[in-house]
Amino acid sequence: MPETVSTTAVSPESQTLPPLLDLQSVSFKYKDKTAVSGVTLSLDDGEIGAIVGPSGCGKSTLMRGIAGFETPIHGSIAMNGSVISTPDGVVEPENRGVGMVFQDVTLFPHLDVAQNIKFGIRKWHPDSQLQRIKELLDLFNLSNFEDRHPHSLSGGEQQRIALARAMAPRPQLLLMDESFSSLDVEHRHQLVPKVREVLKSEKISAILVTHNQNVGFALADRIGVMESGQLHQWDTPLNIYHQPCNRFTARFIGEGTLISATVLSERKLSTAFGTHYFENNERLQVGDQVDIMLRPDDILHDDESDIRGKVEHKAFRGSHFLYRVRLASEELLYCLADSHHNHHIGEWIGITPNIEHIVIFDKRNGEHRK
Ligand code: ADP
Ligand code: MG
Repeated sequence: MPETVSTTAVSPESQTLPPLLDLQSVSFKYKDKTAVSGVTLSLDDGEIGAIVGPSGCGKSTLMRGIAGFETPIHGSIAMNGSVISTPDGVVEPENRGVGMVFQDVTLFPHLDVAQNIKFGIRKWHPDSQLQRIKELLDLFNLSNFEDRHPHSLSGGEQQRIALARAMAPRPQLLLMDESFSSLDVEHRHQLVPKVREVLKSEKISAILVTHNQNVGFALADRIGVMESGQLHQWDTPLNIYHQPCNRFTARFIGEGTLISATVLSERKLSTAFGTHYFENNERLQVGDQVDIMLRPDDILHDDESDIRGKVEHKAFRGSHFLYRVRLASEELLYCLADSHHNHHIGEWIGITPNIEHIVIFDKRNGEHRK
């Protein structure tokens, strides 16, 4: 091919599609109270996100903002490259291609299952309606439920119908606010993977907000961790677990504890339970004081070990025990043990570190990971 330079050439960047959803530094406020503060995140077409955080941290406000029920005081929201929310105005919720499911199932009690699902597609051709209803009932394993009324369904069945109803118009994005929180553990275990499967097969992107991180991990390709209106991290589940960006995320996700450590040499740290090699990517200096994050699977129980900790709490988890032990240094950590190692509260047990990757928080610069 001859080498020509075209002034109209399209650069590779401009050929890539914009993300399905793009939040730039978006904030929401109720009167004097800022409920969501400077949240930036993006979601690609077909991706599922989950935002986890304690009650009151702003999750529902963020969902309502994405759905178009709240006007931001700062920042912007775009879908497919078009801005749909700024402080100057918002595109109406019904014109966003966004569906929403809430914690409390709000099926219409006087309508049967088919009529409930039909609600959002009532303007479609009747044949298409019937086909879509059948398709969704099959996907959610609810064939033959068409004529049933909500009062005759279990909580899990009602929740599946509510999801089917929200998915019926094929929204580009489905927002779920604590949609699984009212279910018991067993129903949740069944339903969450099913919903993931259906969303993927229907190619519907989704965001779930939940205070239950296990639900987030089971459902999502991307996880966000929120606290007091701020989104600390928006990342893959693995990175959220193994590379938490700050102390809050480290502690909130997966039973992490933090232990003091001192830098002994270029690659060695000393802690209350011995010395450890680490990758000194952060140019820490000898004598620096840091905190390191430990997960339960970083510490194993070992009767032979000289490192001892006193059992303060134990939880039987079937295949293993999770022990909470206090070191002589007064520091706490969690440790896993095979379930035949049944020790009692107050007993000193041996522990051995099994740390593959040390996550370090520098004490000098406060919150953030080095
Ligand atoms: P979450 O869903 O994480 O529990 P919310 O988004 O519901 O959090 O609430 C975030 C903060 O905003 C809370 O402090 C809450 O009390 C406050 N808030 C929520 N809704 C309103 C409202 N309609 N008016 C005033 N304050 C509100
Ligand atoms: Mg909420």
